[in-house]
Formats: sequence, C-alpha cells, structure tokens
Amino acid sequence: MENQHEQLASLDQKHFLHPTTSIKQQQATGPDFIFTKGKGVRLTDIKGRTVIDGMSSLWNVNIGHGREEIAQTAYEQMKTLGYSSCFATFSNEPAIQLAAKLAEIAPGNLSATFFTSGGSESNDTAYKLARHYWMLKGQPKRKKIISRSQSYHGVAVGATSATGLKPFRDFTNSLAPDFCYVDHFSPEALRQMIEREGPETVAAYIAEPVQGAGGLHIAPDGYFKEIRSICDEYGILFITDEVITGFGRTGTYFGVDHYGVAPDMMCFAKGVSSGYAQLGGVMISENMHNDFKQLSEGTLLHGYTYSGHPTACAVALKNLEILERENLINNARVMGEEMLKGFQKIQSLRSIVGDVRGLGLMGAVEIVKNKETKERFAEPFAPKVVAEAAKRGLICRSVVFDGQDTLVFAPPLVINSEEMNELISILNDAIEAVE
Ligand code: PLP
Repeated sequence: MENQHEQLASLDQKHFLHPTTSIKQQQATGPDFIFTKGKGVRLTDIKGRTVIDGMSSLWNVNIGHGREEIAQTAYEQMKTLGYSSCFATFSNEPAIQLAAKLAEIAPGNLSATFFTSGGSESNDTAYKLARHYWMLKGQPKRKKIISRSQSYHGVAVGATSATGLKPFRDFTNSLAPDFCYVDHFSPEALRQMIEREGPETVAAYIAEPVQGAGGLHIAPDGYFKEIRSICDEYGILFITDEVITGFGRTGTYFGVDHYGVAPDMMCFAKGVSSGYAQLGGVMISENMHNDFKQLSEGTLLHGYTYSGHPTACAVALKNLEILERENLINNARVMGEEMLKGFQKIQSLRSIVGDVRGLGLMGAVEIVKNKETKERFAEPFAPKVVAEAAKRGLICRSVVFDGQDTLVFAPPLVINSEEMNELISILNDAIEAVE
C-alpha cells in the first residue's frame, strides 16, 4: 500500500494540476492522502488510514459517503438514459421532477430553475440572468452587482469578479466589470453604496446566508431583513448564494430560512446532490419568471451542455429523498448545537482559542496568540492545527485570508453524538499539541 501510494503520488506530481493548491507544495510533498473509499462521516486512503471528514469534503457530502442507494439510482439512470440535451424542445423526467421538487422546498416564491454543473456556473448564470432581466424591463443601465467583503462565489470569471476575498481576484489580471464590494455586516454601507453608485445602475445584491470559505461569518440579527427592505426600496434584485448553506447544512432547508426573508434569485449546488454528481442551479421567483415569459423575445442565449443532466438530476432527487427520510436537517440542527458546545469546551481548556461560532453544521474556531486582546500570531497558526488534526484522524480546513486565523468545520449531516465527541476530542488534542 505504501508502495502504491508512492507510485500514484509521483504520477500526481507529474500530471495533475490540483484545484486551489500550492503547486510548489504539491511538488515538494505530493498528496498526503489518496482517498480510495468513504462510508458515512469517514474517508479511507490507499495506505489504509481512516479519517473523519470534518468538512464533508468541500462542504458538500451532506448525506455522507458510500451511499449504495445513490449508486443504484445513477446506475439505473445511466442504463436507461445517461444523458440527453435540454435545449429547445427537449427535456427529461429527472430534470422536470427535480425542478418541481425545488419549487416545493425553496424559500418564498422561487419557482423555476436553470440547471448548471456547480456553484461557479450558478453564480455566472445568476449575474447574466439578472442583467438580462433588466434589459428586458427597459432598464439596461442596471448592470452592477454588489457583493460582500469576505464573500466567496466561485472561480468562473463572473463568480471571481463577485468574490469579496481579494486574493482570488488578484490571482488573475482581468475580470468582469461592474462589480462592487460592501462591508459584510452593514446594511447602512449597502445603502450608501447604492446611493453613491446610483440606484438606476444596480442590478442585484448577492450574499451567502452564512459566509463559508471567507471564514464562516454569521450575519448579525436583523441584517437580512434590513437588506431585503433596502433591495425593495431601490428595486434591486436580492440574490442568495446557498451553494454551501442549502440542503440542510445550517439546520434548516436553506440558510436564509433562519432569517425570515426570501430572495428573488437563489444559487445552489453542492448539497443538492451531496457531491455524488456535478450539479448546481439558479432559481428565480415566480414574478421574475412571469416577466421573462411576457418580455422575452428569441432564444435565451445561455445554456450549458449539462444543464438538466438526467443522471445528475436523478441522483439529486434520491439525495433529497434520503435527506428527508432520515430527518437529516433536524440532525444537523441537533448535532450543530453539540458541535458548538464542544468548541466552547475547547475554548475553556486551550490557551490559543479565541472566538468560536456556528450555525447548524457549519462551525469555526479562531486561533489567537492572546485570548484577552485577541492578538493573532505573526504567521497563521491554524494550518499547524489542521496538520496535527489530520495526523490524528480528522480533516478540517484553515482560513487565513485578510489576517484571519480560523479553523472551519462542516461534517456530514449524518454525524452522530459518538462521532461528534471524537471530532471534538481530536481537535482538542491537535490544538494542545501545538499551543
Ligand atoms: N458559492 C459559494 C458560497 C461557495 O462556497 C462555492 C464553493 O465553495 C461556490 C459558490 C463555487 O462552487 P463550485 O466550486 O461548485 O464552482
């Protein structure tokens, strides 16, 4: 097994450009874990090491790994109709059924879905649809998309342009125009920005209900209600990016359900299929859909080969069936409370733990040099904890953008109390080892 790892690692270094990875580090060390299987909350690598997947891989494997029912569904669908197009007059049953199911569970009156293959495509689609919508409504100047500082919306050109985290935008030297960034906690700052830019130039405002990749930031009470009313006041579309927060992650079906508001458009991906198939989408409200029906002339010139992919949609339908049948959204709420209590215990035991926070099964632990002053270490410290946790059997992730030094967690929604205790205990040991 060791030998097999070495052989594959060498091929990996030669031929595989990894996403969001340091090329230098990959060349220096090769991959640490080459995973071969997963079951429930655990992953096993080629050397036979088993770890708790404390991130649901990339915040997406909500129903846990190794679900035979999903494999069976994909197999049956591939056998009968693996793929067919949804352009023009063509459609397929899983895509239709999934669009109808989404209309049933989505917030407010979101009623129609445009399918994509993931979160970045969903974001680009949302910005294009929003801008096209305003063209149809006779307000073509409404182009600007306002997003939040520390937001993450993906890596397509539009999605990168909307991403508030500057390092992602600085990675390349030409992005889409007409994006603006506003303080992530301040409705007043949004109002000022709209006034400054001119309301007649703003197409939409986009926000993650809980910011994930940017360091897990939960909006203050009342924030989204105020945002909704500012958008209404200026006639701006309110888009939520539920790519991480959708499908039970925060203990409700969608993140925005915590805040008693509904968006005009919603991006989703990840948890819709729990990572078993590449799928995402954008939902629009019934009112928007009606406007499109009335005003749209000619062809909607936006469509991916895989929009409405029958196998991906069949997998998503089965995934949602499992989510509901096993009551996993409620489990996310209950286990989320346990996770937060566990973090608070670690905070009381360890000298380098600052703020801890969470909503459902999204949680964060901040690392500080000084608990009282909240002073941070000169160099990010959280990555050391991540490395220690991995040695002890727990995968988690560090966020070090903008001077942050934070550990983030998003275990699968199937996690039970015993597994949660194990996660907390490994985390405590990992922090103790480096503090
Ligand atoms: N939006 C949010 C909020 C995300 O967290 C992500 C990915 O983490 C994306 C969009 C991009 O999704 P994808 O990686 O599927 O393109």
